[in-house]
Amino acid sequence: MTGLEFVRPSSADDAAFLDDFVTMSGFGSTDNHGVDRQAATPADGQTRDWFAELLRSNGFTVDMDPIGNVFGLLELVPGAPYILLGSHLDSQPLAGRFDGAYGVLAAAHASLRTREQLAASGAAPTFNLAVVDWFNEEGCRFKPSMMGSGVFTGLLDLEKTLATVDAQGVSVAEALHAINGVGTFTPPPIAAYSEIHIEQGRSMDDANTTIGMVSSTWSARKYEIVVRGEQSHSGATRMKDRRDALLGAAKVIVAVNDLLAHFDDEAVHSSISELYVAPNSPVTVAREVRFLIDIRARESGLLAEAYSHLQAAIARIEAECRVSIDEIGASIWESGPFLESGIELTRSSAELLGYSNDRVLTLAGHDATNMKEIVPTVMLFVPSAADGISHNEREFTSDEDLVAGLNVFTHVVTRLVLGELPESLSILEASAAV
Ligand SMILES: [Zn+2]
Repeated sequence: MTGLEFVRPSSADDAAFLDDFVTMSGFGSTDNHGVDRQAATPADGQTRDWFAELLRSNGFTVDMDPIGNVFGLLELVPGAPYILLGSHLDSQPLAGRFDGAYGVLAAAHASLRTREQLAASGAAPTFNLAVVDWFNEEGCRFKPSMMGSGVFTGLLDLEKTLATVDAQGVSVAEALHAINGVGTFTPPPIAAYSEIHIEQGRSMDDANTTIGMVSSTWSARKYEIVVRGEQSHSGATRMKDRRDALLGAAKVIVAVNDLLAHFDDEAVHSSISELYVAPNSPVTVAREVRFLIDIRARESGLLAEAYSHLQAAIARIEAECRVSIDEIGASIWESGPFLESGIELTRSSAELLGYSNDRVLTLAGHDATNMKEIVPTVMLFVPSAADGISHNEREFTSDEDLVAGLNVFTHVVTRLVLGELPESLSILEASAAV
């Protein structure tokens, strides 16, 4: 690190982080040590309020933008662009307490530790620091996922997103107002983004790796599908007269799984994990079923191939079940590499602090997936134990790994603030030229 001797955080600093993590995990807590904090529910609102207060009490300026992202700014160099750190506090239903929330809390603690490091060493920072809780990363209550970062990066339209409704017909705008979760803040220029997250897979735990340098994302396609048939009596209607939307949906579910036979083992993942059935009544053939097809692959080319197999299967099922099957929306994330300079920066920080490390792919989407399209982005993982399970109350990462991740993240953040990521400097030059 240029001109700066890294001071190892004290065990009291680590204990303070772990204490805050326990407090945070109490919001929306479930019986089996998980959390249930779907976006803009009261539990999400309480977590956000607690986090905003934590930031304020530590000298951050807190504000919210129109899509409900919560920002905390720590000014170190008046007028300079910001290094932004963050993740998400919302969760899936009956989920684990680490997914997203760890990264948000680590962002706050890494910022404060960096401020201390700079003060103790007298080193002059190049950039300011900001943290963010991205609204609705999970996309369970409101689709699509990665909503806050999607609007921030321009991938999603603000007005359309605010008008999106949940299964009960409540809009994003209404839900955000109900938790006092919306503002008018326009964030300042961002020089780089960094995020730390749990792996949500088993590769790091299997290999005993403590720090993952995320090198690339898998590509993902999500298709919103509606199957339309005709409502009728489930006893009285002749079998050959039926147009059963649920039977059509069932065949699509099987077809989506069977797509994988065309590919190498573990090269493609696919699923349908929710169904909305109308009228969802015991004595009535379903007239309409809606669901989301989620297909992911190492390379975008494989997804295009999977899609053409899917199209063929859908045409066959439409004829077999006498239903219509239409795609009413699609979200696409191409696979893509993270910056080599950011991977190297993380690797050298992990080495210096004595932690095992390796490059790792992310199969899950993250806010960093959106952010890397607009600013230099560095992403770190810590291992998920318990077979790598995630979106489940059993999700687990040890205190030791949480602290190791925070230590390396702090080192990376300090170096980012000092301008050690070459790509961040072009944003400095651009802002100086204005
Ligand atoms: Zn997450």
